[in-house]
Amino acid sequence: MKIRDASDGAAVAMAALIIRRGGLVAFPTETVYGLGADAQNPRAVAKIFEVKARPRIDPIIVHVSDIAMARKYGEFPKCAQPVMEKFWPGPLTLVVPKKSSVPAIVTAGLETVAVRIPAHPVAQNLIRFSGCAIAAPSANMFGCVSPTEARHVADQLSCGADMILDGGPCAVGLESTVLSLAGDTPRILRPGGTSIEELSGMLGNLDAGGAVTNLPQAPGQMESHYATRTPLDIVEENGPEMNPGEKTGLLSYKPVSRGDGYAAVEILSESGDLREAAANLFRSLRRLDAMQLDRIIARPVPEKGLGIAIMDRLRRCSAARKRPDL
Ligand code: AMP
Ligand code: MG
Repeated sequence: MKIRDASDGAAVAMAALIIRRGGLVAFPTETVYGLGADAQNPRAVAKIFEVKARPRIDPIIVHVSDIAMARKYGEFPKCAQPVMEKFWPGPLTLVVPKKSSVPAIVTAGLETVAVRIPAHPVAQNLIRFSGCAIAAPSANMFGCVSPTEARHVADQLSCGADMILDGGPCAVGLESTVLSLAGDTPRILRPGGTSIEELSGMLGNLDAGGAVTNLPQAPGQMESHYATRTPLDIVEENGPEMNPGEKTGLLSYKPVSRGDGYAAVEILSESGDLREAAANLFRSLRRLDAMQLDRIIARPVPEKGLGIAIMDRLRRCSAARKRPDL
């Protein structure tokens, strides 16, 4: 098996060689596992789209190891500097006008590029050893639940990656927040691991409306995403519950008083902590999805802090049942 322990420096060096030669490496970040390729090698990036069955209209985030490297790929406006200093490395992606060094396939033909410095030491070493920026979406089949452990990648994509670096479970467990600084007003394109409250503290005129109340309409932000095979409904505690004869699983962010009748119950955080809940979300969804249930009921979480991103993922998962291919 090509899963290698990421604490083995030789494995990371080998992974960097694979990237330099145009191959694909799945690697841990603090958000989710990514499927990476040399961002300046269009043929390598094309393989990412093929392996994931990802539509070519969905742009890919470019991962770099420091701010100077970020500036090689994008034109960062003045207001970006304090944001980069405060939130990088970390789960925040900035969308800015692109430089010509970025191949069109990475940005899906857009004139903007999405850039991030991941905080995970393995991701940082991989970028440094490779000597190039790494274009990487999440290492799962398009539209499915993102991987937060190496074995999730192996289950879905084992034939697609030339190597999987195992760095243990992802600490944040949700994708990065995507913030566009390419227009007149800073705008949240996707809620994620950096809370919107923290960002609006720094960017007074932040447009977060779409991210909080609706499904964002950014490129690649398909309504149905992060999908389980099992239909998922978001139901308030006193809402309509199980249908007779249905095998139903419950996903709750804090302990429940009555879990009886459910075939399985997943608690995202025993203490009701939204950070812990975010870190456990995708693993719990996977567990329930593996149980041959008829339905998953998810309790809503408070829409503040990381709760905004958690609800975004649950809504997209629930929208996915409308897809004819699921
Ligand atoms: P992921 O597939 O989780 O890596 O998410 C990447 C997401 O970042 C895309 O689906 C877009 O929503 C966003 N994104 C990436 N590049 C751009 C870009 N150039 N302009 C706007 N959004 C972008
Ligand atoms: Mg993804």
